[in-house]
Amino acid sequence: MGRRKRRRKIRLRPRRRLPKIFQCPRCGETSVSVLIDRRKGVARVVCSSCGLEAEFEYNPYLAEVDYYSKFLDAYEEGRIGVEESGEGEKEGEEAEQDEG
Ligand SMILES: [Zn+2]
Repeated sequence: MGRRKRRRKIRLRPRRRLPKIFQCPRCGETSVSVLIDRRKGVARVVCSSCGLEAEFEYNPYLAEVDYYSKFLDAYEEGRIGVEESGEGEKEGEEAEQDEG
């Protein structure tokens, strides 16, 4: 009767703050991060690749992924976007001249 207690290593992940990066609906890069500012009461979802960005009201019951899904909805509805430069570029800058 040799019952041996087997020690089992239970590894709890000490790092709870894993980077939460999501895929961008616009550029397809996995570079969307959720920045929560509790002091301001806002949650910002930003793609560091193409600059797509949205801001939502901070809700303590929501997780990062929830803001991300809001972000996707907002993008699909066309509520958010990025200013694209290239098309319709301004031409003919007026140079200011000092008279004197
Ligand atoms: Zn993007």
